Amino acid sequence: MSFDSLFRVRIESGDGKARVRVLDPFEAGGAECGAGWATLYDPVVKALEAFGCRVACVWELDGGLRIEFLPPDGDETPGAIASIVTRAEVTSFAVCEWCGRSGTLRSVPTTKTLCDECQGERELNSIRLGRRI
Ligand SMILES: [Zn+2]
Repeated sequence: MSFDSLFRVRIESGDGKARVRVLDPFEAGGAECGAGWATLYDPVVKALEAFGCRVACVWELDGGLRIEFLPPDGDETPGAIASIVTRAEVTSFAVCEWCGRSGTLRSVPTTKTLCDECQGERELNSIRLGRRI
């Protein structure tokens, strides 16, 4: 997802013309992933803010942590910051999203990175509830 699609939303005004409004990052998201990854994204969010970046949202995508942010106005993303974000995102594939212990990428019933225990719990609940979680 590009920053444009993340922060710009089309709105219809009363005169029938479509306009694009830029969302405040906190309007756009917030953390949408399990608490197990808080230790991964908390320091990254603090570092981003220290560099003047605006954090848009933190979420799970295809089993991994994703952190979207905007660099300070007109600036390129500093390389150091980009590598901190990438490192957290890559590390998330080895950390259980739910509890923070060591995890692995699972594909059943849906893609998620979980430890054996959380995966077992998820499979049980999935069968019990009859839906994919
Ligand atoms: Zn777990």
